[in-house]
This record gives sequence, structure tokens and C-alpha cells, in this order.
Amino acid sequence: MKVYKKINPANGEFLYEVEIFDAEKVKKEVERAKDGFNEWNSLSLKERVSVLKKVIGEIKREKETFIKSVMLDAGKVRQDAIIEVFTTLNHLHYLTKKGYRFLLPKKRSAGYFKNNSCYTVYKPHGVVGIISPWNYPLILTATPLFHALLAGNSVVLKPSEITTEVSLLLEKICKKAGIPDNAFRVITGDGSTGRALVESDVDMVCFTGSTAVGFEIAKKCAEKFIPCILELGGKDNAIVFADADLERAAAGIVWGGISNGGQTCIGVENVLVEEKIYEDFLEMLKREVESIPKENLGAVINSIQFEKIEYHIDDAVKKGAKIVCGGEKLDNFRFKPTVVRDITPEMKIFYEETFGPVIGVMKFKDENELFKIANSLDYGLNGSVWTKDLKKGKRVAEKLETGAVCVNDCLTNYLISDLPFGGVKKSGMGRVHGVEGVRSFVKTQSVMVHKFGLKKELWWYPYKKKVENIFLKLIDFLF
Ligand code: NAD
Repeated sequence: MKVYKKINPANGEFLYEVEIFDAEKVKKEVERAKDGFNEWNSLSLKERVSVLKKVIGEIKREKETFIKSVMLDAGKVRQDAIIEVFTTLNHLHYLTKKGYRFLLPKKRSAGYFKNNSCYTVYKPHGVVGIISPWNYPLILTATPLFHALLAGNSVVLKPSEITTEVSLLLEKICKKAGIPDNAFRVITGDGSTGRALVESDVDMVCFTGSTAVGFEIAKKCAEKFIPCILELGGKDNAIVFADADLERAAAGIVWGGISNGGQTCIGVENVLVEEKIYEDFLEMLKREVESIPKENLGAVINSIQFEKIEYHIDDAVKKGAKIVCGGEKLDNFRFKPTVVRDITPEMKIFYEETFGPVIGVMKFKDENELFKIANSLDYGLNGSVWTKDLKKGKRVAEKLETGAVCVNDCLTNYLISDLPFGGVKKSGMGRVHGVEGVRSFVKTQSVMVHKFGLKKELWWYPYKKKVENIFLKLIDFLF
């Protein structure tokens, strides 16, 4: 049996071994989930909602266990782990209070065809393969899981090999709450297990992770002609205008870029500052970063991440950027919160995801230059605009090529369950949260029912000149 040795990212200690499921084992689990689908989907929506409400109770009861597990698996500080538990419960609460209504049959207008009644019904895909990353091991596993289950799908989940325990805990409490054993299977392992899951007989894939792996999965799903949701990497810009509440902007941007060790897909990575306040705002960012208590800083997940952070900073410095503060390891497990000034679009730190506690700052002259720079990125996940002029804030926000954007805040939009979340460009496709998210996990079937019992419709055989003329007249009259 092949295993992965799990290390605590916060102190380097060995924690546990993870079995790496091979393709044969994955296939068997998917077969079990096919049976689980029949069992779970035979429950009514109301019954499924009631089981999911019990899951809320179980997570609440076990909240300390979850917090500890997230901290151990991902090297997070306690508050970052608590926010994971809070957000997970918030999204699940939304699904059971409001989200389930998006799955009820919906009456549709028949337009000019008044002799019909129309409605849509929402059907599960079958077995959904969910693959999740390590950086938010609870939220990013639980959110797609509960969306999929609510809709009546069964799930085979492949969590990141780096953060397996959290998912095994989630599996345990879901079973305790009454989710049938075969309706939710967890398979452990690395990329090879994830690949086997995508290649198995699943009916849909929901992947959260890097853009490189997301592309590979998109190709495989296209070959199999099954739907996939791809929540991929990001490189989020924070745009600071001179008329912003600069104190709030500096505090928000530093939290958005540094929290969780900077390892947040929607973390602030680039800061674009209006020219006339550039030096003052840099000073504020530096003060803010230097005031973060050391015990609030989370771990960098592994040596690969450390190398990437250092490589991006080196590349920026070689090309003319300057380190304002930080720029080196704090200890063997954490990186000092870092501000790099005068970054340019030619530097990796500007256009590649760094995924560390590093904020790159540059100035812009006017909106023309701003959009040229901000929208030049391949990524389009989140972003933020900081100004007291809300009209301008919304106008600028809407011109950014991103799946989501905040005005005078950052990251918090992910916590709002009614707001759809997902990327554009190379940040992904498909949505979670809100009506869009709930309906991402179902097939829409449209039903049209004839009401009047006529022997024939006008346009059926045999075709007549008179009918042709009626339609020609209607074209002129109606549209
Ligand atoms: P990753 O792509 O390396 O791994 C993600 C998951 O995919 C893991 O479970 C991994 O084992 C599995 N995997 C790896 N290779 C695979 C393959 N060939 N086929 C199938 N599965 C495979 O990403 P990561 O390092 O775990 O996570 C960090 C990345 O995730 C960052 O790029 C981050 O921006 C992104 N992310 C995106 C979102 C979002 O919502 N858009 C959220 C969090 C993280």
C-alpha cells in the first residue's frame, strides 16, 4: 500500500500516514456511490434538508475538534481556523434555509404560446467527484459537498493529501447525522488518486485547486462529455484611490494579503495605488504589516511554497522592485509579512500567483492606465476597489475582469452565501453559492404541457399558405 506522510506545517512534526488509493480502489468507491445515489436521491428534498440540518448540529457540537484539526492539518492560527468553521456553517445554514428553494419546480412563462403551461425541474447529475485543496480544507470541501448532496447527488470526495484528517472528520459527522454510507465516500491520496477519480465513472466533477491541474481536468471532462466546475487560482488586485478611507484600506489590504499565511485564492496579491498618495500609502502599509502580532501569522504549507515566494521576490528585486519590509523567513515554518514596492507587469510577482504573505505595490496615473494593468492578468477571480466615492467604486468594480469584486472590503464576499462565487479567465468556470451555485449541481429539465386539447396546432402538417402568411404577419406585428 502506498502512503503519504503527513507533516504538521507549523512545526515539522510527523502527524499521520495517508493511504494513496489506486485506480482499482477508486473505481470500487464510485460503484458504491452509484448505489448511494439511488438511496439518497429517493429521499424528498425536504428529507434531505432535514438530514443536512442535523449535520449543522453535529458540526456545532464538534466545533473544537474541527478547529484543532484545521489548525493541525493546515498550520493555521486559531482565528483563521474558527472562521473556516463559521463560514462552513453559514453556507450550510443558507442551503437549508433558502438555497433548497432553488431546487423546487419553477413555473415559467409560456410567452405567446398561452395554450401551454411551462415549468422547470432540477435533477441531480448522479455521482459527483469532488477534489479539494489544502488551503481551506474544511470550507472548500464542505461547500461543494453540501451543494451536491442537497441536490440529491452522491459524492466521492478526494481531499488534498496535505489536509486529509479534516475530511475524514467531516465524513464521520455526516454519517452520524444520517447521510447514508454510500452517498458520501472519502478517498484519500495524492494527484494520482484525483486523476483516477476524474477518469472513473463519475457524472460530474467539482475541482478546487491550481489552474494547471484544472486545465488537465477540464480536458478529461470534455473527452468524457461530463460537466465540471473549476475553482482555480487567482491574482487579485486591490485598487486604492486617493479619496479612499486610507486607514481602512491599509488595514483591509494587509489582512486580505497576509492572513492564512497569504495562502488564499482570493487573497490580495497586487496593490495598485493612485500616484498622488503612493508614498503615503506605502508608509501606511508598512506600519500596518509591522504591527501584526507574530502569533497571528500562519504557517507556509511546505518547502515548495517557500521556494515559490522567495523566487517571486528575487525576480521582482532583480527587475527593479524594492522590499519595504519582510522579504525573508520568520522561522522555519513562517515567512515574514512582506511589502514589495515598484512592481511592474513584467515581474512574476505581478502576474503569477505567489500564494504567500507578500503584497506587491505599484502606482497608477489614471483609470486608463489602471484598467490596462489590472485587466492584463490571465487570472480573474476576485478584486477590491477602495474609494469613498461609491458611484466611482461601483463603476470601476464593474469594469474589472473578475468573477467577483468588493468595494471598500476584500475577501468577505466569500462569506456571503447568496452571492455566487467563481472565476473568469484562467481562474475557472462555474459557480458555488447563491442560486447559480445551487443550480450548478443539477440538470435543468424543462416541461411544457398543452392545456386546451385542440386536435391540431396551426403549424402541424399539412403546411398551408395561410399559416405561412399568419406567421409573416406576426413577425411584423410582435417584434
Ligand atoms: P493543486 O491543484 O495542487 O491540488 C488540488 C487538489 O487536486 C488536491 O487534492 C490534489 O491532490 C489534486 N490533484 C493534483 N493533481 C491532480 C490531477 N492531475 N488530477 C486530479 N487531481 C489532482 O492545488 P493546491 O496546491 O492543493 O491548492 C492551491 C491552489 O488552489 C491555488 O492555486 C489556489 O488559488 C487554488 N484555490 C482556488 C480556489 C477557488 O475557489 N478558486 C480556492 C482555494 C484554492
